[in-house]
Amino acid sequence: MTSRVRTRFAPSPTGDLHLGGAWTALASWVLARARGGRVVLRVEDLDPPRVVAGSAARVAEDLTWLGLDWDEGPDVGGPFAPYTQSERAARYAAAVDALDALGLVYPCDCSRKDIARAASAPHAGEELRYPGTCRDAPRGRAMKREPALRLRVPTDARVGFDDGARGRLDQDVARDVGDFVLRRADGVYAYQLAVAVDDAHMQITHVVRAVDLLASTPRQLLLLRLLGMHEPSYVHVPLVLDADGRRLAKRAPRETVRALREAGVTPAQILGRLAQGLGLRDTDEPATAAEITRDAESREIAWTRDDWRAPTTWE
Ligand code: GLU
Repeated sequence: MTSRVRTRFAPSPTGDLHLGGAWTALASWVLARARGGRVVLRVEDLDPPRVVAGSAARVAEDLTWLGLDWDEGPDVGGPFAPYTQSERAARYAAAVDALDALGLVYPCDCSRKDIARAASAPHAGEELRYPGTCRDAPRGRAMKREPALRLRVPTDARVGFDDGARGRLDQDVARDVGDFVLRRADGVYAYQLAVAVDDAHMQITHVVRAVDLLASTPRQLLLLRLLGMHEPSYVHVPLVLDADGRRLAKRAPRETVRALREAGVTPAQILGRLAQGLGLRDTDEPATAAEITRDAESREIAWTRDDWRAPTTWE
C-alpha cells in the first residue's frame, strides 16, 4: 500500500468537459499536487448507450489545455492499467464472485414496474428502495427475464465515514437503500461496484468528487468492507450551477471548457474562478494550476460547502 496521496478524475465520456467537470478535476488535481501526490485519469465508459464516440479524447484534450495533467491513465498507462472501465470487466466479475462466495449475491428478475408496485412510495428526491422481492426466492427457479445481480445487504450495514468537506456522515444502507444492483440485467456492471473496486485497486487515497455522489459513498464503502479492500477517504465538493441556479448539465454547451476557449477565455481565467469557488484561493484572479497548487501547499485546504454559480461574463 502506498502512503503517497493518489487522487483520480473519473469522467464519463458522455459529452464535452463542462465547468462542473473542470471543477472536480481541479479539486482532485490540486489535492494531489499540493501533497506531492499522483493523479490518475480513469475513463468511466461502462454504460454503452450513453457513451459519445471521441468524447474521452476531447475531455483529455480540454484537461491538458487547462494545464491539468495526470501520471496514470488510458494514454500513458501505469501500474493499475487498464484505466478504461470497459476493459476492466474481469475485475468486476471477480468482485461479484467473491461476494457470491460469501452468500451475498442473488439474481433478481423484477422489472422496474414490479419494484415500483412493491416498494413504498419514496419521499421526494429519494431513490426507490428495493423491497427485497427476490431475496429469498429459491435458487435455480425459472426467471421471467435475464436477471440482474443484487447485493444481499446485511441488516447491520450501518456505514460511517468522515468526509473531508462535509464532516461525519453515516447511513443505514439496509434501511435507506436496500439490496442494490451489482450487475444489471444487460450484463453491465453497476457504477457502485465498478467505482469501488477501481478506487481500491488503483490505491486511490482521496476520492474527490461532487456532492451529488455523496449518497453513493456508503454503498461503495460497504462493498469495500465486505470485500476487505482498501478504503479511500472522500471529499465531496459542492455543485456548479448555471446562471438560473440549476445543476450544470452536459447539455449546457455555453458552459463547456471548449466553448469558453473558443470565446477567447484563458485557462488561467477559468482556473482562477474555479479555485476561488472551491475555497482554494481568496481571489478569483487568473491563476495557473501551478500557482493554485503553491497556495494550497502552504495551508490546510478549506473546502467550501456552497454551491457555485458559473460566471456569465469572464472579463
Ligand atoms: N464517472 C462519474 C461522472 O462522471 C464520476 C464518478 C465518481 O467520481 O465516482 O459523473
